[in-house]
Amino acid sequence: MPRPITATIHLSALKHNYAIAKKFSGSAKVWAVVKANAYGHGLAPALRAFADADGLALVEVDGAVKIRESGWQKPLMLLEGFFHASDLALVQQHRIDVAVHCHEQIDLLEQAHLTPPVEAGHRINVHLKVNSGMNRLGFKPAEITRAYQRLVAMQSIHVVDLMMHFANADDEFNPVLPVAEQIRRFNEAHRLLGNTLETSLANSAATLLNRAVKNDWVRAGIMLYGGSPSRAAAADFGLLPGMTLASELIAIQSLEAGESIGYGSRFIATRAMRIGVVACGYADGYPRHAMDGTPVLVNGVRTRMVGRVSMDMITVDVTDIADAKVGSAVTLWGRGLPVDDVAQASDTIGYELMCAIAQRVQIIVDE
Ligand SMILES: *Cc1c(COP(=O)(O)O)cnc(C)c1O
Repeated sequence: MPRPITATIHLSALKHNYAIAKKFSGSAKVWAVVKANAYGHGLAPALRAFADADGLALVEVDGAVKIRESGWQKPLMLLEGFFHASDLALVQQHRIDVAVHCHEQIDLLEQAHLTPPVEAGHRINVHLKVNSGMNRLGFKPAEITRAYQRLVAMQSIHVVDLMMHFANADDEFNPVLPVAEQIRRFNEAHRLLGNTLETSLANSAATLLNRAVKNDWVRAGIMLYGGSPSRAAAADFGLLPGMTLASELIAIQSLEAGESIGYGSRFIATRAMRIGVVACGYADGYPRHAMDGTPVLVNGVRTRMVGRVSMDMITVDVTDIADAKVGSAVTLWGRGLPVDDVAQASDTIGYELMCAIAQRVQIIVDE
């Protein structure tokens, strides 16, 4: 028998969440974002769940090639574009759309002297990125015309749309960079190019929270996996958990008041307690900085983690769960326990927890 920790991927939930993304996107088309191994859910299950998606977007070139090789025919995009000149042959061969966000990428395109394709439909589709204030990737409005002109001068390139990313889609009136200011800068860039290109602005948070920004394409990530991009609960938007991380109790300890548990003796029993030891640690992807009190389900009953997370184990309070014994079912997050609740208690976000699922955790596909 393998170690009892498993991540069950609920295909029906992923499909349901994609339908919700479509509903919130109005007439916009939706990229299902599958970067980071589909936020930890695995590319293969994600491909099955998102078979009806309008397009797939990710950042890994090898992942994009795998997706094409698996038979995906619809749009496929690299959100950070290509990284090296050597990526361009793959991009062209596999018809992978690329974001272009800096002049150095355009230099590489020019230097590659790509053969103009015989058919117009076989040009490389470029999504031109505007830096509207996030200040990671993209051209500021003042540079956008030059970037665009360089791109359209190449016959092998087709500029499809103008794209931007929100810094504060979950905090519309952020005092430093409100959503409206990013939209204003984006609109300026769009106007400079004659308002002709398609547009793509929204991530999950903007899709769920900001009615005004769903243009031609939406880029939905976390919401597809049932995580919340904001302080609101995912369930409030009708989203279902895409993954359940589960394990079992592998030991029970009885503690007297004053006894401690685990490394650093961080938790000290204030009364006689029963402690369950769970086969799940930070080497499985459970956050090492989880605090005492982080929620856990044992036999479906919500209790708390106590003591420091170690590499292969955590310890949980089962004092009031009479039927808890070696072999009892433990849910770390997923159905019955929102990943965002666990994230909040560990001072992180659901994204990080899902993406951190380790290689050694067995993935089970729930058809
Ligand atoms: C990851 C990513 C998204 C998806 O963001 P979520 O918050 O997970 O919806 C959208 N756009 C870009 C450019 C991204 O890199």
